[in-house]
Amino acid sequence: MALSDIYNGLELIESGKNRGSTDYLASAKKLGVSEDELRQIVTKVKGMYSREPNSNFTVVDYVEKLHAAHLTASDIGIGEGKYQASRLDHTQPYTVSNFQFELQKDNLQERNVRNSEKDHPNGQSIVTPEGEYPSAKSAAEAFGVDVKTILRWCEDGSDKYAGWWKKGKYPEKVTARLKASGKRFWANDNIAEFVDVDLLIQDLTPRFEDVLRGLVIDVDTDPNSMGTAKRLAKMYALETMEGRYTQPPAVTAFPNDDAETRYGGMIVVRSEILSMCSHHHQPVKGVAYIGLIPGVKVIGLSKYTRIAQHCARRGTLQEELTQEICNEITKATGAKDVAVYIQATHGCCENRGILAHSSLTQTCELRGQFFNPSVKNEFLDYIKMQQQFAGNRT
Ligand SMILES: [Zn+2]
Repeated sequence: MALSDIYNGLELIESGKNRGSTDYLASAKKLGVSEDELRQIVTKVKGMYSREPNSNFTVVDYVEKLHAAHLTASDIGIGEGKYQASRLDHTQPYTVSNFQFELQKDNLQERNVRNSEKDHPNGQSIVTPEGEYPSAKSAAEAFGVDVKTILRWCEDGSDKYAGWWKKGKYPEKVTARLKASGKRFWANDNIAEFVDVDLLIQDLTPRFEDVLRGLVIDVDTDPNSMGTAKRLAKMYALETMEGRYTQPPAVTAFPNDDAETRYGGMIVVRSEILSMCSHHHQPVKGVAYIGLIPGVKVIGLSKYTRIAQHCARRGTLQEELTQEICNEITKATGAKDVAVYIQATHGCCENRGILAHSSLTQTCELRGQFFNPSVKNEFLDYIKMQQQFAGNRT
């Protein structure tokens, strides 16, 4: 019997929906062997194949391998030479052991191919903006996500970059890294060290386009809407939410510790701020008054405003913003006595909702000596003077 016959017979068995004795019987009949003999062959073949762990190969696959290796059934010890393979080429005879070796090698290669396919659709390494990873597994580890997620990110790549980029996975990737590092990323959190703004804009643009299409705006022919997606992406990343994606301003501190020249009074700086409410993404426009009694160092006057604006340029609530500016000023100056007063108008009250055009929101955060009524009153007096000054100027 030729291996091709065995193959055919086994294929019959394998393709049979019920792999019961009926199939064996039919196959055996077809092959001209007894059912018992056929069972022996199958057991033998399957037994050998079971050396390969996690193999999804069927007996048919296995016999195909025998064919490819020009092996006779007797070579693998089936039927002790009973089955003579008429179509086998014996110029390169295989013994059972060297066949097994070849088979193992083959399987190994096959497994490697399968694994690399599993790792990456193209069997390539994973190339990300942050570097190249030899496998999806290593990329998954680096980004703190599971392999499945990495594969999803790479999904439909025609080349190794396209897969990563095409579907605009950059924000998801950043999100995964933020989660992996346990870093909070609320609307008012600075995540500059995790984000490349150019890459973000690149990915944001098609998403804004989706939103515009969702609003049923003809972004393809309306000349006023054609570039809007890109404008929105840039506006969010570089302007209205700029404070999330850029590092805080560099602040140089100057010593204020000389006993003779040390300034011990109050500093009050008026800073115009533009922010955006987290709830509606509407503008929040106003003025922050930053007061402090300096400690052993002071910072340049313009830095107070830079810090305030950096805190403001993101989605925030005025209450949060007041505290955040306080925190950052404390950090930059080392002063313990800090106060921030903000008054602002909110687009979400003016342009929508209650449509209140003259509503003003005031928030005030006091720390250290500013709880002392006389210090607090001094601060409030300075604010009044500042307001008069600003009013006189305009
Ligand atoms: Zn709002």
